[in-house]
Amino acid sequence: MIEKLYDRILHRNPGEKEFHQAVWEVLESLKPVFARRPELLDEALIERLCEPERQIIFRVPWADDSGKIHVNRGFRVEFNSALGPYKGGLRFHPSVNLGIIKFLGFEQTLKNALTGMPIGGGKGGSDFDPKGRSDAEVMRFCQSFMTELYRHLGEYTDIPAGDIGVGEREIGYLFGQYRRITNRYESGVLTGKGVLWGGSQARSEATGYGLVVFTAEMLKTRGEELEGKRVVVSGSGNVAVHAMEKAQQLGATPIACSDSGGYVVEEKGIDLDLLKQVKLVERGRLSAYAERRGGAARFVPGGRVWEVPCEVALPSATQNELDEDDAVTLVRNGVQAVGEGANMPTTPGGVRVLREAGVLFGPGKAANAGGVATSALEMQQNASRDSWTFEHTEARLTEIMRHIHRLCHTTAERYGRPGDYVAGANIAGFELVEEAMVAQGLV
Ligand code: NDP
Repeated sequence: MIEKLYDRILHRNPGEKEFHQAVWEVLESLKPVFARRPELLDEALIERLCEPERQIIFRVPWADDSGKIHVNRGFRVEFNSALGPYKGGLRFHPSVNLGIIKFLGFEQTLKNALTGMPIGGGKGGSDFDPKGRSDAEVMRFCQSFMTELYRHLGEYTDIPAGDIGVGEREIGYLFGQYRRITNRYESGVLTGKGVLWGGSQARSEATGYGLVVFTAEMLKTRGEELEGKRVVVSGSGNVAVHAMEKAQQLGATPIACSDSGGYVVEEKGIDLDLLKQVKLVERGRLSAYAERRGGAARFVPGGRVWEVPCEVALPSATQNELDEDDAVTLVRNGVQAVGEGANMPTTPGGVRVLREAGVLFGPGKAANAGGVATSALEMQQNASRDSWTFEHTEARLTEIMRHIHRLCHTTAERYGRPGDYVAGANIAGFELVEEAMVAQGLV
């Protein structure tokens, strides 16, 4: 029955391979749930869960600095609002298409449920490539994008945030245009804002910090700690940099990270101040970081960062970036824990190899949920017109990550899969969304 159901989903969503992959992974994990509650299959619950409530696709015309006109495509998939208003980031990257946004929205629905906060799932973005564009070009693009998107948003409807290619600069331009069109200062309509204008302390750090807290909790279940471990991270954007920062604070050594041009290794530890300056402030290349470090760092153009031996690996760039071969290499080099900072960065083959080797594996929908959880904390602050300290916000984040870890762990045990965080996260997220959907009738 599950395979038939999956076939129907394939047919209705042709060519959307990342969406198929995300759905299949969840369906596989839910087998023990269906075995106990076969009625779930009769109520078309899975079909409803896999069908977004609304999908918006729109034209985004904009002019570059030379006056040349470009046309991009904008997306917002409002996936599921059983637990709260749609919530999830915007991604600006040339690889963006409907299938990618749907996979992200589907994952987001279950992830948001795990946080225990009142938020539904959604995701959006565009195939616009911000790389190499001036601030003025990015601003014009964001203004055009929001000119259509604003009519679908609202603090009780849909609240976007950042993702790949969308950070505080882009959220600023988007918020400015929203405010201008609506003539309303609705702070709660976007998260990831600057702290000065309604943003939350610790939001930019949250995904990376939360990922490391979750990974440390996994290690604790085996009597291990993060201190003294070598950490390899892929990517060098928002999630990656803050994961390295928290790992360092907890006594581990981040020794390698990457970008789309290659990876850098520095056995004594990456210089995080310089890395932030190069990647987050100057929006430069990782090769420039290595040049500025002189002989201390080695840059490997086009290489796979997973070649670098480590005890902890944190894939934090993009989907399907850690495959079966990479997993074999990591296992051979003695990896103990893999925590997904990115969404679905490990291929199904990669996950299988890691699990068969007994490596602790934290799936993205649990391990990287700290970002969206802190976005929900930002919404709380906006609603009460308050702003909390960094320490208070980080303490809440840590508490939420420990709650998510416990929930995944105990759910996996309850279904006879001890230590299987993939099953734990998928089942726990599903149970919460399913209960709310059923309670609200056939919607
Ligand atoms: P950023 O844009 O800040 O950074 C992305 C990093 O990944 C960059 O170093 C980029 O390299 C690299 N990268 C992106 N796409 C590719 C690709 N196709 N091949 C190789 N490298 C790539 O994004 P974030 O750090 O915000 O997001 C990273 C991941 O974390 C994404 O999967 C996102 O969905 C997920 N995530 C983010 C959250 C957040 O709060 N921001 C919350 C939860 C999950 P380069 O500089 O060369 O482009």
